[in-house]
Amino acid sequence: MPRLVIVSPCYNEEAILAYSARELTSLLERLIAAGKILPTSHVLYVNDGSRDRTWELIEELHRENHFIDGLCLAGNVGHQSAIMAGMMTARDFADAVVTIDADLQDDLGALEEMIDRYLEGYDIVYGVKVSRTADPLLKRTSALAFYRLQSAMGIRAIYNHADFRLMSRRALDALACYPERNLYLRGIIPQLGYASTTVDDVISERVAGESKYTLRKMLLLAVDGITSFTTRPISWIIGMGLLC
Ligand code: UDP
Ligand code: MG
Repeated sequence: MPRLVIVSPCYNEEAILAYSARELTSLLERLIAAGKILPTSHVLYVNDGSRDRTWELIEELHRENHFIDGLCLAGNVGHQSAIMAGMMTARDFADAVVTIDADLQDDLGALEEMIDRYLEGYDIVYGVKVSRTADPLLKRTSALAFYRLQSAMGIRAIYNHADFRLMSRRALDALACYPERNLYLRGIIPQLGYASTTVDDVISERVAGESKYTLRKMLLLAVDGITSFTTRPISWIIGMGLLC
């Protein structure tokens, strides 16, 4: 049985934390009762430099609920780095880590399936969005166009997978050796080479609060997702230069 740590990044999530902690606690209790994970499993909320009461709420939740722990970053470093900080902290005391956004738009049933796949021997389990009708139209279409652009450029990434995934301790140890600084975890993790599989993830609407992924943050992530894994844009620029 693994000791599971659920890593969840939070940026200005005061509106959703109580709901999120309630849902994740009952999920952990269910998995413990089913004998799938150790009772020492817990949730690690990563406060990514929030400007609202997110950290105070994490501290309160930690005092009254032994399943809740917190990690407070010095400033807002962004979703990818916040997840990385959480995973690298959790790796010291977890057998398996699941990363999931604090708003729990991802499918908790799929999280349960991830544990089953881990128990079958997989080191990495990707949540793949099979339905994202709850996402706004612009977000849905731009995300799908981006995944297509990535594969057209020869980048190996899981189609329609964001950062909802399970990783075993040894996969995390391998990730820790990866020296990349422009973090685009969806591109790095498939390169680790461990046995991996997918589970279906049905996206639901945000219960409270608003999306913290601004257009600027999305574009920066997309640029990292292309420029960190392929030199093709550089070849195109050189080609256009020669042509001119
Ligand atoms: N988040 C973060 N740092 C940021 C922006 C977002 O840690 O700078 C977290 C946020 O709190 C949430 C997750 O990343 O847990 C995904 O953000 P959100 O749900 O707002 O994005 P969306 O679902 O709209 O893509
Ligand atoms: Mg969300």
